[in-house]
Amino acid sequence: MYPTFLVYFAHVSNLYYTLPQLELAKRLVASSFADRVFLSNSGTEANEAAIKFARKFQRFSHPDEKQPPVEFIAFSNCFHGRTMGAVALTSKEHYRSPFEPVMPGVTFLEYGNVQAAKELIQSGKIAAVFVEPIQGEGGIYSATKEFLQALRTACDGTGSLLVFDEVQCGLGRTGHLWAHEAYGINPDIMTLAKPLAGGLPIGAVLVTERVAAAINYGDHGSTFAGGPLVCNAAVAVLDKISEPGFLASVTKKGKNFRELLVKKLGGNSHVREIRGAGLIIGIDLDVPASPLVDACQQSGLLVLTAGKGNVVRLVPPLTITEQELDHAAEILFNCLPVLDKTAKN
Ligand SMILES: *Cc1c(COP(=O)(O)O)cnc(C)c1O
Repeated sequence: MYPTFLVYFAHVSNLYYTLPQLELAKRLVASSFADRVFLSNSGTEANEAAIKFARKFQRFSHPDEKQPPVEFIAFSNCFHGRTMGAVALTSKEHYRSPFEPVMPGVTFLEYGNVQAAKELIQSGKIAAVFVEPIQGEGGIYSATKEFLQALRTACDGTGSLLVFDEVQCGLGRTGHLWAHEAYGINPDIMTLAKPLAGGLPIGAVLVTERVAAAINYGDHGSTFAGGPLVCNAAVAVLDKISEPGFLASVTKKGKNFRELLVKKLGGNSHVREIRGAGLIIGIDLDVPASPLVDACQQSGLLVLTAGKGNVVRLVPPLTITEQELDHAAEILFNCLPVLDKTAKN
């Protein structure tokens, strides 16, 4: 559909648009709340861009004020990346403290604490609130509708921007195209990355026209971002996710898998909770999860820890089959006794 030189180019100077880039942006806009897209190379870069856009938007919206709102809110157990701005928004001390000073002006509030968030947003100092509708790295915690609605209402009251980081939970992971669709609440900015180009490096910042109006050509940019190769890959990923029945299959596989895990693992005394949505699932343990994660790897199943190290995180490919999920549950079940050994030591 494109001239072949555009399909096969890996890179074109960012002085020029390419058709795959426009096609990707069009698709993202058509399927979301957003009007404009900025492309980056990773999730942390997407959040870094969102930080800059929020600051620029506030300067643009408060032209006569010496001190427009420049501060940020992020939440307990959040993860937004590892560069100096994104890491400043990431709650775990361990990621930040060796590199301080990071970007100042970030307050961490308890995830889900409506009152604390409302009060701080109403101070008028907040440029933007960064929140994951479902926290991945932090331990697979889903926001409540009340919480996201309160953030939306408070931000609307002051002009603070609401940023949803869907780098991990977006693009079909929860069974909805966007995790926030389940809540019926839209952000002003959404960041994406991880699965967007099927394993090639990409990130995206989706914004409303109101936010985009504050950003000028040249305010931000990147040499490799939005290259034709990665954008073609991302369009192919979006094609796959938008096949009829694809998202419904994620919901169904996720539900069956969670029920199977509850049935097989729920009786174990170390398992406190099995939670999640679609194919983002956490198994909350009363002991460190890494012995179980290691034992699973020995048995051919790759899973990950999350939270304070006591959560097993399951984020399989969305194309996984029911049989493969059954096999994964079997391996987890067979490896569980390793937790008794570590608990006794
Ligand atoms: C992984 C992740 C990031 C960082 O993305 P990178 O592509 O690794 O830079 C940001 N936010 C969330 C929610 C993530 O899970």
